Amino acid sequence: MKKIVLLLFVLVATSCSSIANNKMFDRFKDRFAEDYERITGKVIEDWFWDIPINFVKEHKGNEDALGVCHWHKKPFENFNYITINLRDWNTTIANEISREIVVFHELGHCYLYREHTEDFSIMRKYVMRHNTYFWNRERLLKELFKEVE
Ligand SMILES: [Zn+2]
Repeated sequence: MKKIVLLLFVLVATSCSSIANNKMFDRFKDRFAEDYERITGKVIEDWFWDIPINFVKEHKGNEDALGVCHWHKKPFENFNYITINLRDWNTTIANEISREIVVFHELGHCYLYREHTEDFSIMRKYVMRHNTYFWNRERLLKELFKEVE
């Protein structure tokens, strides 16, 4: 019984502190959905489009995080949202490929419910070099979507 009360509390609290979607990220979501559907043959679920992504000035307690997926156990996936550190966006990852790695990584958490792995994966804790990603993109996407043999 205690668990359910806590869960409801968390749900209400986070739904209030959720964020608006910044259109800046829409092209990354479009690309993610397109690749997901092409590689898996499955249609992306409607709630994917409702995952808001926006900038924050800092991630309190996680100052090193480029991005954070604020996730909720299913069936509360509709409350998931992503925040990206604005300064890093314009410095550390100020190129389209690195930005894609970071957004796809967070969508890996927030949509696919993937956790971190040590494998050669977008779900590694640290962002890989953008040319490593570029030359292995298809393989990495298959791994992300778990479509590897
Ligand atoms: Zn992560």
